[in-house]
Amino acid sequence: MRIVFIGPPGAGKGTQSKRLLSYLSIPHISTGEMLREEIARQTPLGLVISEQMSGGGLVPDPIILSLVGERIEQPDCRHGYLFDGFPRTLHQAVALDAALEANGQALDVVLELRVSEESVLERLRHRAKHESRPDDDMQTAIERLRHFRELTAPLLGYYSRRGLLRTIDASGTPDEVFERIRSVVDEIRDTKAAG
Ligand code: AMP
Repeated sequence: MRIVFIGPPGAGKGTQSKRLLSYLSIPHISTGEMLREEIARQTPLGLVISEQMSGGGLVPDPIILSLVGERIEQPDCRHGYLFDGFPRTLHQAVALDAALEANGQALDVVLELRVSEESVLERLRHRAKHESRPDDDMQTAIERLRHFRELTAPLLGYYSRRGLLRTIDASGTPDEVFERIRSVVDEIRDTKAAG
């Protein structure tokens, strides 16, 4: 299955994607992780990326699209994957569709994790206090939330019009949220198998 996972920072996307990956045994394609690896390797591209990311801003689409394009050509992606943090802009979504279509492929589902703005802020506050991810101080987190609202939220309409969007209520315990995700994924997998 080819899955896109969308949710604001602080919605529990990291936790839930890990569970879903082990449930489905497909590779995880996290553009954030790929970018952090590039920075860690201190490549020239890594330096450019590092500047963009440190302010909480988005990395330019061409860089992202080339990283993702290479990744999905790998043999382990033949039977599907989970995109996490990609696409993040409408342009990335359109480019992804075009790339898949050129290979006779398509996404199976876009899972949106939905939480109230209040609980997102609460979770971000908690994370800033207890974890030490360098890009996670509160100011940066708020900036990322703003980027989500302005740039990523429009993707929901795009995928909804294509009949791909499934919205998951992300409130409650991680177990409760995963149950909701699992039932949607099972349903889509059954439909796919039947078709
Ligand atoms: P994440 O680990 O997904 O939260 O991503 C961390 C940071 O990497 C983001 O705040 C962006 O600066 C950058 N980033 C990750 N994925 C993308 C993407 N698809 N497009 C642009 N920037 C991205």
